[in-house]
Amino acid sequence: MKTPLLKFFVRCAESVPCPCCGEQLSVIGSRRRKIKTRSGQTRVLIIRRLRCAQCRRIHHELPDCIVPYKRYESSCIECVVLEGSEPTDVAADNATLYRLRVWFITILPYFLSCLNAIAIRLGQDPVEEPSVPTLSAHQRIGLYVGHTSGWLARIVRPLVNTNSWVQTRSAFLSGNA
Ligand SMILES: [Zn+2]
Repeated sequence: MKTPLLKFFVRCAESVPCPCCGEQLSVIGSRRRKIKTRSGQTRVLIIRRLRCAQCRRIHHELPDCIVPYKRYESSCIECVVLEGSEPTDVAADNATLYRLRVWFITILPYFLSCLNAIAIRLGQDPVEEPSVPTLSAHQRIGLYVGHTSGWLARIVRPLVNTNSWVQTRSAFLSGNA
């Protein structure tokens, strides 16, 4: 017997300009996006597809629970990737947890340098990290976006909205270093 999947319709309140060229986006349809919760349950989100009036690229709405190209929801990844956290309540096998941690710790320096680049572009003060070589990932994240719940979404959103997100670790290593 198949368990019925829960569906959620995503409607972001804010109107985001095209990440590539800054022009207006218009809704052209929707698509289904599966996401796994902490308990291992699959939810189906209905995400709106948006097209740019200028460059014609297709984008998708980004609810805070989604990290692009990741199967687990953001809050779940949050508690897996920080060292010292014991994700005993996340229904995933050890290999999956390990891959998530490696992905995150590899890409974190890129994320943080992007956040600083975005801050400078917006005329804000970039984060100046103390010149202590032993800052942990946890401490660095705290300096940029704080530790309160939702910190990963606060990293993801500005990167996606400025077209700075990279799809995989290998793309990161080969293309945007
Ligand atoms: Zn565009």
